[in-house]
Amino acid sequence: MNAAGTAWIGGIVRSFGSDRTRLMDIVTAVQHQFGYVSDEAVQSLATDLGIHPVEIEEMVSFYAFFDRQERGRNRIRLSNTPISVMKGARDVARAFEEALGIRLGETTADGAFTLQWTSDIGLADQEPAALVNGIPLAALTPEDAPLILAALRQAGDPSALPAYPPSAADAARLPNAPIRSSLVQAGPLLGGSPDKAAGLRAALALTPEAVIDEITASKLRGRGGAGFPTGLKWRLTRKATGVEHYIACNADEGEPGTFKDRLLLSEFPDLVFDGMSVAGYALGARTGLLYLRGEYAYMWDDLQRVLRERRSLGLLGTGIGGKAGFDFDIRIQLGAGAYICGEESSLLESLEGKRGSPRDRPPFPTERGYLGQPTAIDNVETLVCATRIMEKGAAWFASFGTKESTGTKLMCVSGDCERPGIYETPFGITINELLDLVGAPDAQYVQFSGPSGQAVAPKDFGRRIAYEDLSTGGSTMIFGPNRDVLDIALQFSAFFVDESCGWCPPCRVGTTLLKQGMEKIVAGRATLADLASTEALANTVLRMSRCGLGQTAPNPILTTMRSFPEIYESRLASADFEPLVPLQDALRAAVQVQGRDPVKDGA
Ligand code: SF4
Repeated sequence: MNAAGTAWIGGIVRSFGSDRTRLMDIVTAVQHQFGYVSDEAVQSLATDLGIHPVEIEEMVSFYAFFDRQERGRNRIRLSNTPISVMKGARDVARAFEEALGIRLGETTADGAFTLQWTSDIGLADQEPAALVNGIPLAALTPEDAPLILAALRQAGDPSALPAYPPSAADAARLPNAPIRSSLVQAGPLLGGSPDKAAGLRAALALTPEAVIDEITASKLRGRGGAGFPTGLKWRLTRKATGVEHYIACNADEGEPGTFKDRLLLSEFPDLVFDGMSVAGYALGARTGLLYLRGEYAYMWDDLQRVLRERRSLGLLGTGIGGKAGFDFDIRIQLGAGAYICGEESSLLESLEGKRGSPRDRPPFPTERGYLGQPTAIDNVETLVCATRIMEKGAAWFASFGTKESTGTKLMCVSGDCERPGIYETPFGITINELLDLVGAPDAQYVQFSGPSGQAVAPKDFGRRIAYEDLSTGGSTMIFGPNRDVLDIALQFSAFFVDESCGWCPPCRVGTTLLKQGMEKIVAGRATLADLASTEALANTVLRMSRCGLGQTAPNPILTTMRSFPEIYESRLASADFEPLVPLQDALRAAVQVQGRDPVKDGA
């Protein structure tokens, strides 16, 4: 890097106040200015921020959207999920490979393109999908590949790096860029034409404590899947002692099959920001933080425009609504491609500019969250619910759903059905009723609440969607009669290998071993003993892992084993199976080193 590059980095660091906690923003800027984060850039950042280069190094290497090596100027990231594969993603990938003359994971010789797989990008209802220079492209076919490449070659200076975050004008140059609205069925939450600030205005007519009382009376529970009572979370945060209080909105929906945050932020952003403002008032916070997953960077401009508009209307800023002392504003923090950052303590680490490793708890974020201060972290949908509760009242909200699961739920439906998309349904409906609604009469099974949830077989389709029975973050992937249950479980296992943060061995090693076990089962080479050991390992990973990712990573295997034991048994190796490598041959080198033979010794 030359002197001009070093000076540029210095300018970027200063523009963020030389604040180490803004490292995500600083590194994002460096990545997109130079195309990667070079050794010289790491050194320069460390010098300018007054920290050790290792801190930069460990943070940059953690996120999928940051590169330590130079890659292609144009980045084509193809969504790789069981749903995208079902819908033809591998054919689309082959078409790109042929048109570019490279394989997935490679860069063209002229440095113009890198082609790669990526995890779910929030378009499960419109697969096969891709992010091209951050721009979402949906419903791709193999014929689209050369058209997309031609459009990229024609766009601007071919030697320049594309702008980031991408703008609407950048998107307009690409075929397949307009993605359709996912909303199929609105209900009380999203129906009508909600006012920009009805929730906040209603909240400001009450005291902060009364706002929390109203949320508590509504029995609103967190919509990310865990279902923690929102009123209690807000009360704990407000009561906790701190120099500042914060509200953080978790828009890092990385669970495959989930795409409701995309809908809410792109079509109902005022409901989200209004909910954050209500929470800010209730908690006594001056700052709200929206953590936006890197895959949704294309919303950046629109969301900033909405924030500017709210400032100009006096809905953000100082003395909001004429309330002396209620000063509140919202900052958007862009993520950089790490599923684990959807876990609340990892999200806090990322917000502070670090690698997104989970924290030990307690203390919980309500006591010590962002920058060690009391922080309420709420799901996007939860905050939209809070907005409507303030506008229409707790009793109105509680009139929908069941006793313990009030209100409605946004269900993200994808896979083998006639009408994929988002359905707002009252809590308490059965899976059967949802399948009727979306047109899936012959579902073999439903992967419910994403890969970290459970595989639900037809015998359980009468179960209810509610915290009392099947709780969910919303992901509902439907697999029809001809789908290979075991191969899908294998693909989900591979997803967890990629997304494990690597901090604790049970998850780091265990997810890899589970994937290898599933590969053997899918290939028809496993014995009954292999099935038993895979199940035992899955239970160990579930019990011993440090955070929710490892504790749920075995679910695709364990829940398909429970729901479809006959499919696993039918795939076992035949009785006359002879291993290609006899055990004693495989162990020979180890026996020589150790001086003992576990087979002969019966160990
Ligand atoms: Fe990281 Fe997995 Fe351990 Fe969680 S369980 S801390 S994701 S390695």
